[in-house]
Amino acid sequence: MLDRAVVDALFPSDLPEPSHWEEQYPPRGLGEGAKVTRLGPSPTGFLHIGGLYVGSIDRDVATHSGGSYIVRVEDTDQAREVEGAVAQFTKAFEYFGIQPDEADEVGAYGPYHQSQREQIYLTYVRELLRDGKAYLCFATKDELADITARQQATKLPTGYYGRWAIWRDKTAEDVAEALEAGRPYVVRFRSPGKAGERTSFVDAIRGSLEHEANRNDVVILKASDQSPRLPTYHFAHAVDDHLMRVNLVIRGEEWISSVPTHLQLFDALGFDRVEYAHIAPLMKQQGGSRRKLSKRKDPEASVEFFIEAGFPAQAVQYYLRGLVNARLAELPLAEALEAPISLAECGVAGPLVDLVKLDDICADYVATLSGEEIISRVSEWATAYDPELVSVLASERDAALAALQVERGPEVANPRKDLRKWSDFRTAYGFFFPSLFPLVSDRTDERLGGLPPELISAFAADFADGYADLEDGQEWFAQIRELATKHGFAPNPKEYKKNPDAYPGSIREAAQLIRVALTGSKASPDLHAVARTLGTDEVLRRVRALAG
Ligand code: GLU
Repeated sequence: MLDRAVVDALFPSDLPEPSHWEEQYPPRGLGEGAKVTRLGPSPTGFLHIGGLYVGSIDRDVATHSGGSYIVRVEDTDQAREVEGAVAQFTKAFEYFGIQPDEADEVGAYGPYHQSQREQIYLTYVRELLRDGKAYLCFATKDELADITARQQATKLPTGYYGRWAIWRDKTAEDVAEALEAGRPYVVRFRSPGKAGERTSFVDAIRGSLEHEANRNDVVILKASDQSPRLPTYHFAHAVDDHLMRVNLVIRGEEWISSVPTHLQLFDALGFDRVEYAHIAPLMKQQGGSRRKLSKRKDPEASVEFFIEAGFPAQAVQYYLRGLVNARLAELPLAEALEAPISLAECGVAGPLVDLVKLDDICADYVATLSGEEIISRVSEWATAYDPELVSVLASERDAALAALQVERGPEVANPRKDLRKWSDFRTAYGFFFPSLFPLVSDRTDERLGGLPPELISAFAADFADGYADLEDGQEWFAQIRELATKHGFAPNPKEYKKNPDAYPGSIREAAQLIRVALTGSKASPDLHAVARTLGTDEVLRRVRALAG
């Protein structure tokens, strides 16, 4: 064990003692059962859908228990930090309505960026060194690689433990010599784990779990030649969750195997242990098998994918909650968003993310919204992703409202479900707006079904010349029917099929000409309703463009 003076000389002389931090961050006056939860995203990339998923659980549990929810930016790996990641986290939490109670400068237990907590970590590293519960390790990269290679060659577990832990029992003289020589070092935890020992703990989701005890002398403070001197994840977890007075750590199941190490750290530091809940990962079906959603392979693994496409936040939240607790998927959306999540009901097998299902949920949800609501949500989304649409929606608000009345809206028995996400608006409704609609004037356009251009022209001209904006659907459609006969189309598809050489097409092909002229698409809402919404002038402008 190193002399206290040697240990203290490694740290700034004004470094506070643990009592200072304990007083600065006192235990919270929590009500019975209140949970303080946290999400610890690392800004080494944009937020993963798994982060949103776990964050939603954190938010919910804190809200329903009367606790607090923290977002702590775990930025100890500064070399891998991605620019803009922290801003994207904030945007994502806002978009999905899961803002933390404490983050950045809001909250009494900050700073909430690990890179700004160096002093705090150093206090506790020094404490463990003073107690001989941690030690300096000067092993070089080559030495460590050699240890791993020899362990692998003899099929031993890899790691820094037992006889492989070459600096664990070095004498004070050896350490002094290495320090004198200015060799860089890391600080390692002196694990109290013994070979063959087991650790058990209770997980709020999985119940009682048993694992091999940790024997690894994990690094707790990174290399001494780096600035700032930052801790590893394991150590920061223990210190931060203690001092932020977190009492329920909800995190991905990939951390289960680290629990034995974490419990040793909490014990060595004299901290009360926290409760853990390890969440099963979101999965993806690929062929016959399931695998974890992967940020590298699956665009939908990134939260940005959902924001950019404008998936309605509440529908996504509803879907995710149904994955957390299957029971919530059975409730109507509004109820499911209010009902508390139960950790005990979380599955231990990762749930499947099914984008088709999500699309259906989104379409059902949007179908319940009024035209005003849709316009306001689409505009909000488009502010960032489709500025042209924002101004069109503002200047042609009446047209937008009228368009959204066509076969949809909460008052329609079977509303159209053609909007799943806000980016669908342009495709589904863009044609209603004169300024967004490219006229169809090329009579060889494949959407027109390959009919002779002269026929198309004559038919369109005739339609425009005699057009009447009739209220009755049958009567309105009779205009097309009469013209179709006049221009030699078969009266119905059956007739046409029987004798295809006798006609250019049937009434169906004739109607398609008007549909494409008015909507630019071969599939559209009810044509009569579209025409009534566009108004006579616009109908004539479009059909005349086709006539040429
Ligand atoms: N920074 C860790 C991660 O990104 C957080 C793990 C935890 O929640 O403890 O996975």
